[in-house]
Amino acid sequence: MADIRLENVSKSYGAVSVIENLSLTVEPGELVVFLGPSGSGKSTLLRMIAGLESIDGGALTIGGVRSETLPPGQRNVAMVFQNYALYPHMTVRENMAFGLRNIGMPAKEIDARVQEAARMLEMEELLARRPAQLSGGQRQRVAIGRAIVKEPKAFLFDEPLSNLDAALRVRTRVELAQLHQRMNATMIYVTHDQTEAMTLADRIVVLNKCKIEQIGAPMDVYLRPASRFVASFIGSPG
Ligand code: ADP
Ligand code: MG
Repeated sequence: MADIRLENVSKSYGAVSVIENLSLTVEPGELVVFLGPSGSGKSTLLRMIAGLESIDGGALTIGGVRSETLPPGQRNVAMVFQNYALYPHMTVRENMAFGLRNIGMPAKEIDARVQEAARMLEMEELLARRPAQLSGGQRQRVAIGRAIVKEPKAFLFDEPLSNLDAALRVRTRVELAQLHQRMNATMIYVTHDQTEAMTLADRIVVLNKCKIEQIGAPMDVYLRPASRFVASFIGSPG
């Protein structure tokens, strides 16, 4: 487990500023939700933490190590995408094993991790299938399983439930909360959905137009919104 620290981080695409002087520390074992409307910079932030995007200014450290000295492959963070990003030609087992094989892990260890993750997610019977033979919810479990087997320092979720129907969204949300408790893992969870944020987060980071509007526990943000934007976006009373 590691803390993730951003200090005055900035990012722009050409002349367009996407993140401005953003500072934030995610504590080890914490589940932090980045909540904000579409275009508020949530995915960009997550991609910078994963190392999929460079940072223009400021500093990012993971477990005390500066990101410049940590190439994406050595960051040991696992990202789960909205569109699952599974390899269509591989079985579920192969999808989950692929990243571990790439770093030269012994086959025995890989098998053990895949088996354990499949058991945890109750999808042992899916291991021999290919993505085309899975429902949307099952694909998302595989994507989560693929993250778990890496035993990462932190999980990064980018709107992982938005392609699921309402009932499955609630179920998967509850399972993610249980997973967080069981693994005691550091998690950053990006969403534009207020309910997801309220039910999952230890702390919510409300983003709007490149900036943090408010950071706080769900009930704090709900009952004591720091701005009109937060109040209307969260749907605070009064
Ligand atoms: P969110 O995930 O909150 O919807 P994003 O981080 O995807 O927001 O995007 C934030 C802003 O950055 C948006 O205005 C988007 O158009 C812009 N943006 C994102 N990625 C790129 C890119 N690769 N090139 C140019 N602009 C981008
Ligand atoms: Mg996004």
